[in-house]
Amino acid sequence: MLVRLRLGLASDELDPLLALCRDLGYGTRFLDEGRRLLELSGRGDRTHRTRLEDHPDVVEVVDAGDSHELHARGADRPDTVVQIGGASFGGGNVAIAAGPCSVEDYDRLLHLARGVQDCGVSILRGGAYKPRTSPYSFQGLGVVGLEMLAAVRAETGIAIVTEVLDPRDVELVAEVADWIQVGTRNSSNFPLLTEVGRAGKPVLLKRGFGATVREFLLSAEYVLDAGNEDVVLCERGIRSFDSTTRNILDVGAVAHLAAETHLPVIVDPSHAAGRRDLVRPLARAGLVAGADGLIIEVHDDPATARSDGEQAISLEDLRELTLDAEDIASLDGRRLSLRPSNPSLRASTAKEPIQ
Ligand code: PEP
Ligand code: MN
Repeated sequence: MLVRLRLGLASDELDPLLALCRDLGYGTRFLDEGRRLLELSGRGDRTHRTRLEDHPDVVEVVDAGDSHELHARGADRPDTVVQIGGASFGGGNVAIAAGPCSVEDYDRLLHLARGVQDCGVSILRGGAYKPRTSPYSFQGLGVVGLEMLAAVRAETGIAIVTEVLDPRDVELVAEVADWIQVGTRNSSNFPLLTEVGRAGKPVLLKRGFGATVREFLLSAEYVLDAGNEDVVLCERGIRSFDSTTRNILDVGAVAHLAAETHLPVIVDPSHAAGRRDLVRPLARAGLVAGADGLIIEVHDDPATARSDGEQAISLEDLRELTLDAEDIASLDGRRLSLRPSNPSLRASTAKEPIQ
């Protein structure tokens, strides 16, 4: 492990830290005359990195060496492949989830489920519990929404991804969801992360809009540490000074995560863009950066949508986007997981060039 220390520490001030390192089982050696770069030799433990990061004399852990946390891609660690319904994320598999922002009514949900299935997509998204900025905005249909999701699942066979907001609802949501979503506002809700980690269902963890990549990975660590290995990370845009797009899609983070973790990483271009005209190019950018999939908001009448109508694309646009994903995945030898009844969309659809 390589650790960078605070500037200007006197010898005797370094003693407690060096003693701690030795107690943890490391040999210690300074790599520079200024005694700021400390190399620790010996086999690490995954609790050591944060132990040292929390030390007041440590500026940063530059290289974690052998002390792998559960999310880290060790030399011999294969990609984690997360399977939801018939779709696979990771290990060369790219998959898509699509559907409305919120569950609104049964007929619409069923229509959209059949529509996304027609595009080859086998996972339906839709929030029954909605995390809204204002308490006066539509909060979702709650249990009634979950019942609609369950009924559509039973009718069509489509897999369901839906969000949980409250640790007390995890059991209920897990009965309906094939994939449990923790949204950006709850990305650092540690009791919720632990609870979904115990729920026995795959987890879709979105990056907090103000979270660093390291904080995001440590949120994933809570789920993994609770015994759940089926975690899919989702970059959905972070806050910035510019309001041209709703958030800034951090494609650099996608590329970094694809390299540094064995977990699948997907992109949500809908919440990043906040505008339907930019969903397709951002989806393409995410896949080119190495994302293992997409989650997309779709609506058949966005003007009346009860949340996020401005960023919802049509089912026709979803078809185009699915074709893009098939093409981009094939460029580096990956494959798009489509429903068995749609082994390839390309054969049957002429493609529009991107504007
Ligand atoms: C959503 O998926 O509708 C949602 C609220 O997402 P996020 O947590 O990324 O804002
Ligand atoms: Mn939404």
